[in-house]
Amino acid sequence: MENLDKNIDGKSYANKLLKKIFPLSQEFFYKFNRKPSLVVILIGENPASKIYVKNKIRTAEANNIKSIEIILPAETSEQELLQKIILLNEKAEIDGILVQLPLPNHISEQKVINTINPDKDVDGFHPINFGKLYMGVPNFIPCTPLGCLYLIKNELEEISGKNAVIIGRSNIVGKPMASLLLSSNCTVTLTHSKTKHLKEHCKNADILIAAVGCPEMIDDTYVNENAIVIDVGINRVEHPQEKISSKLVGDVNYKKVYSLVKKITPVPGGVGPMTIACLMHNTIKAAYKNKNHNFIDIFEESI
Ligand code: NAP
Repeated sequence: MENLDKNIDGKSYANKLLKKIFPLSQEFFYKFNRKPSLVVILIGENPASKIYVKNKIRTAEANNIKSIEIILPAETSEQELLQKIILLNEKAEIDGILVQLPLPNHISEQKVINTINPDKDVDGFHPINFGKLYMGVPNFIPCTPLGCLYLIKNELEEISGKNAVIIGRSNIVGKPMASLLLSSNCTVTLTHSKTKHLKEHCKNADILIAAVGCPEMIDDTYVNENAIVIDVGINRVEHPQEKISSKLVGDVNYKKVYSLVKKITPVPGGVGPMTIACLMHNTIKAAYKNKNHNFIDIFEESI
């Protein structure tokens, strides 16, 4: 029979986290007579982005957070978008601003990120927040790596001194993940498409994080039996054998890796729900910051 204990149930962790977050948003409402607020800007017609935004809005509404969705056509100019963000930065009643990535090619992602007020930057992508994280004095931590760290710390008795290998060096996942693990006293190897002997690096990992964007690339030849594997990848692939036309898979071949390793996150139901729960946390943190009110970060005790 399948040993279900190996599966890291991100959905259940996320629900537990949201249960802690809900009273904080209620408390905010009683104190300030309004809900914490989150603006999500979606540009264009990317189907995956539409689903991510829908999930974020739905979770916000369910957690007593006012969400405002701004949908802009793909032809929106960079200047128009930057102007919109500047106006939102100035609005006192807006706590968090998130621009769903990726953006159409004619808009510079970096310019957009740089324009968001760092104290409303609930994604944690602004260079000031990025730098603070690297210096070990974080303000807003990017949601996906924050969620991954939470899972790892709750699944492992001790994280200090572990070998952590990350595949992928993006600004939104790989690099902040490396920084968080380093701050947790792991020995960190950050790998990428030019890394030589990738398998050897991965095989040495106590903690292996896959954030590549290549469907099921990591199989049982990349892991050892003591590894905890965190699969960040979300890839939609064709599924010709079954009635459904496509399905979601991670960067890890779950079936092959599951039987070998100590722990593994599934896709879907692993990192994804944690990302959204962490966004809710960051939004409430932004709301308290906006009111210059003390906020006890629920992650401080758990990460
Ligand atoms: P990205 O910006 O495309 O970065 C991919 C990284 O993987 C790059 O650093 C790239 O190396 C590296 N890479 C590509 N092919 C490789 C190979 N064969 N061997 C080793 N490294 C390789 O992707 P991302 O935004 O970080 O996202 C990664 C995955 O996570 C995607 O599937 C995305 O959909 C998913 N994601 C999920 C969540 C969630 O909430 N679960 C959130 C964000 C992203 P180079 O730098 O050398 O090009």
